[in-house]
Amino acid sequence: METKLVKIHQIEESQEEIEEAAQLIRRGEVVAFPTETVYGLGGNGWKQDAVRKIYEAKGRPSDNPLILHICDMEMIGELAKEVPESAKKAMEHFWPGPMTVILKKSDKVPGCVTGGLDTVAVRMPSDETARELIRRSGVPIAAPSANTSGRPSPTKAEHVWEDLNGKIPMILDGGAVKVGVESTIIDFTVEPPVILRPGRITKKALEDVIGCPSEMNTSMKETDGGVPKAPGMKYKHYAPKARMILVLGSSREKVTEKINELVSEARSRGQRTGVMATDESEAYYQADEVVSVGTRKNMETVMANLYDVLRGFDGRGVEIIYSEGFEGEPLEEAVMNRLVKAAGHEIIRV
Ligand code: AMP
Ligand code: MG
Repeated sequence: METKLVKIHQIEESQEEIEEAAQLIRRGEVVAFPTETVYGLGGNGWKQDAVRKIYEAKGRPSDNPLILHICDMEMIGELAKEVPESAKKAMEHFWPGPMTVILKKSDKVPGCVTGGLDTVAVRMPSDETARELIRRSGVPIAAPSANTSGRPSPTKAEHVWEDLNGKIPMILDGGAVKVGVESTIIDFTVEPPVILRPGRITKKALEDVIGCPSEMNTSMKETDGGVPKAPGMKYKHYAPKARMILVLGSSREKVTEKINELVSEARSRGQRTGVMATDESEAYYQADEVVSVGTRKNMETVMANLYDVLRGFDGRGVEIIYSEGFEGEPLEEAVMNRLVKAAGHEIIRV
């Protein structure tokens, strides 16, 4: 299949391109599109056949459910059986934006979207191209991230191209995304609500808005009768091709010293090494590829660059990556959650 890569500049000037993508969606094809979190691989959420194509293109296990993307509040009624008060408050405040809510699913939502669960994940993205695409399609768009299953999520159209060229008919290129990590997933079917995946919207921000405490359960171990609450938890995630090791420590000096020691060991084994550093530390490393992921003074820069940097190491043939961690920084949960998974839980503490 030939994959068409289409640039979106101003929404007003890109109506034709977005309409073409919407037609594909209506017909049951899949299209990659930008959102503010990461690029999504979208299909008509009502059509089993379209949903099957999403799983196929990504190589995603079919019990790992998708998020339904909507463009206005009216669409919620068709998707969810009930919307608790706390969910309403959160939706009013954070939508459109990087928050996904889990609700009891309506009978209309096909089981293939929810991986057979009786709950459904719903999000209203703030990205204008995404919302225009949903509006023109006239259906909720089922979409996971537009990467090959297991790889880092795409934050640029080039990343989608790397993974899905030849497998899907169209990619809408809206440039680099703003947030850079996936949405915060919050389960509102339980009291108190439970955060299943941390993201740009933090536990504190959520609690301030809903006016009551929430819980965080992002571990794969705490299961509900052996089944993880967010089925995505049990799969390998966000991982570069290179082996990655996360080095955590009580000071910048200790971490730098340890990483440099590990780098020289790896080099003596003949391995090409990479270090994921920050603006504050990059000058202190001696590896083949030292890349700053952003500044600790603004963790949003770290979130925005994270996946691009991980993919970049693969592109430059790095075989082993050492990364600094982010403990005690704002947005720590969102960033560390991805890093720990990218490193396959290989962590060294100094
Ligand atoms: P992705 O953004 O590609 O990681 O895919 C969507 C994520 O939403 C996956 O991690 C799913 O496990 C999660 N998800 C989707 N639907 C549900 C649901 N009903 N309950 C819990 N998690 C869900
Ligand atoms: Mg994903």
